Amino acid sequence: MSVKIQLNDRSVGRSRGVVFGLAALALALTPGCHFFHRNEAKAAVVTKSTQTAAMLPIDLTKVQPNEAGTVPILMYHQIKGDKINEAKLEYPPKMFEQDLEWLYAHDYRPVSLTQFVQGKIDCPAGMSPVILTFDDGLKSQYNLTSDGKIDPNCAVGILEDFHAKHADWPLRGTFFVLTDEDPKNPPPFYQKEYAQGKMEHLVQDGFDIGNHTVHHWVGMKHFPDAKVVSEIAGGVAGIHKYLPDYNVNTIALPYGVFPHNRKLLVSGSSGGTSYQNICALSAAWRPVASPMSEKFTPMYLERITAGDKFHESKWWFDDLEKNKGEKFVSDGDPNTYTISQMMAGGLDKVKLAKAHFHFRAYNGTQIASSK
Ligand SMILES: [Zn+2]
Repeated sequence: MSVKIQLNDRSVGRSRGVVFGLAALALALTPGCHFFHRNEAKAAVVTKSTQTAAMLPIDLTKVQPNEAGTVPILMYHQIKGDKINEAKLEYPPKMFEQDLEWLYAHDYRPVSLTQFVQGKIDCPAGMSPVILTFDDGLKSQYNLTSDGKIDPNCAVGILEDFHAKHADWPLRGTFFVLTDEDPKNPPPFYQKEYAQGKMEHLVQDGFDIGNHTVHHWVGMKHFPDAKVVSEIAGGVAGIHKYLPDYNVNTIALPYGVFPHNRKLLVSGSSGGTSYQNICALSAAWRPVASPMSEKFTPMYLERITAGDKFHESKWWFDDLEKNKGEKFVSDGDPNTYTISQMMAGGLDKVKLAKAHFHFRAYNGTQIASSK
């Protein structure tokens, strides 16, 4: 079996290290592994252009983008059981599948969290971005059956199956894993013999891995600085045990509890591991602002709990349909931000210019300005 790696647009913005890491990973994959089934891709050289691509034309009679709109970041834990069990953080596989169906039918497409934070939203024109996140590195998120195949009822199995049925639903999502950095803890996704392969496979497939600290302690708010930094750096070290070159640059705070000194989330170093985060995620409760909005706060991004209660995912799905004007709708051009003139002031022009994005506003079906 020859194993090659496809490096597509998801690689842009990551460190070159991960590119070499992936190449090394490809060499390390052994023939006969049932779950490394994506073997037809080809290695490519990633070059990052220093020039922003030209603005793509848009047909405003077909698409009315709103790139100042809000974006849901969904949060899942256990994917198991027959009904929602909040105490056990269980969400049934059937309902997870239905969420994907609903999102797909309502023109959402998943985007990578890291690309989103950097403003690079690559949804097709007229589609709305959604971000999927999975916390705690649970077995029900990624389980292999006794014959080494992906359990079709775990989150990864459901996502891969959905992608196979809907080619325009890319495999994207962030797994905020717990690791055995503290040897008393289980490895990510629990099955020790498969932990290494699972971590490699997720990255190879296009998913992201994020930091969820070492111990999942609840008391982060009151920890001294050194303990906060050690929990964050340790989370990175735990991931690097499996993916040595992986650029871990996102964190989800256990229970959504932030340290008193939030600057510690941005960068730090402890026990020989340093970290730099481009975003930090909370655990509740509403869609977040456009990344180019003045209201965007990457170091405190709210998430939406999967569920059917007030301010949980099903409630927000309904709300976003009722208030369509609030929803982010893509212009199909990742290098350009397009908004209705009615939304003037909805985006931060200085930030747009600094990040080298084009900007245009429209009035009805006419471009009103492109400065
Ligand atoms: Zn957690």
